[in-house]
Amino acid sequence: MIVKESEGISELKERLTVQSKIVITTHQNPDGDALGSMLALYWFFRNQGFDVTAISPNDYPEFLFWLPGNDIVIDFYKNRKKCEQIINEANFLFLVDYNDTRRAAEMKDSIDAAQCCKVMIDHHPFPQMIVDYSFSFTEVSSTSELIYEFIMAMDGHAWMNKSVAECIYTGIMTDTGCFSYNSSRPRTFEIVADLLNYSIEKDVIYSRIYDSYSAHRMRLLGYCLGQKMQVFPEYNTALISLSLDEQKLYNFVSGDTEGFVNYPLSIKGICFTAMFIENKDKVKISFRSRGSFPVNALSEKYFSGGGHTNAAGGESRLSLDETVKKFVDLLPQYAQQLNENMR
Ligand code: 5GP
Ligand code: MN
Repeated sequence: MIVKESEGISELKERLTVQSKIVITTHQNPDGDALGSMLALYWFFRNQGFDVTAISPNDYPEFLFWLPGNDIVIDFYKNRKKCEQIINEANFLFLVDYNDTRRAAEMKDSIDAAQCCKVMIDHHPFPQMIVDYSFSFTEVSSTSELIYEFIMAMDGHAWMNKSVAECIYTGIMTDTGCFSYNSSRPRTFEIVADLLNYSIEKDVIYSRIYDSYSAHRMRLLGYCLGQKMQVFPEYNTALISLSLDEQKLYNFVSGDTEGFVNYPLSIKGICFTAMFIENKDKVKISFRSRGSFPVNALSEKYFSGGGHTNAAGGESRLSLDETVKKFVDLLPQYAQQLNENMR
């Protein structure tokens, strides 16, 4: 059991009563694991009759709308006053799939100001939040996997159902690239095996996530790989950049570039990729790597970001071209490390 008594699980269980007002939140631009872990926890509490609300800092891509509980998620960005009040009145605040309130964007101040009991459940390294209960494990595939462990540690077997299982499965599947990385621990598969006992249809879940793209999105992918990918074989690196004008040309909607950063990793000899997406006020960056090259450290040092060893994100206030140049200029200093990483 990864979640042990020393984390205070029994005490937390005793403190939670049906009178408790529970609020669950996650990081901005939620992905499959963020939403999957938030909604799995939502159903776990809901099934017990608790008063529970799920709040997302902003909206998320349409391919996640099918998740059970999607209709009850409140968008903080669109309902600021209401969400501030709900957070203010909460007795318990669960923070899932993030470990630094800066990742909650506009919601940061409300979370920091809340005086209630705070519980963090997360799998990112270097936690930065002050909480009452911390369930922080970097070895798990995803926060969703950790939610399963949390439920089991709470003796919550009776409150598992198909909705909880679907949400957890979605988080594990998306955070492991369909079990291609972050999934070498046998325990991940033991959990997946148990999830299948709840009549979830794993092939249908796969299709809902990965076979729901628009034609525009597919053409945008073609454009990015065909016209916008730069390969630096001497640095084992490839990048893609995308301006606002190019996004307009392909009727870009939120979530369309999800996963693009992974494609150049399929090129032989490439172990480090970056994707630069121009936003109105900044450039949003995604980094991916294979092996032991830590993209989170590079992102934190140069692009105000962070994340995992092999998947991180950051941002830049320079122009798109300047940001790409800054990145390319950094590569020579990492050449040896990248080269050794390929061996
Ligand atoms: P993605 O590239 O899919 O947006 O994010 C990859 C990973 O990096 C995720 O684990 C995400 O939580 C983390 N991440 C993305 N953007 C940021 C950021 O701006 N700051 C930090 N600290 N982590 C980020
Ligand atoms: Mn995650």
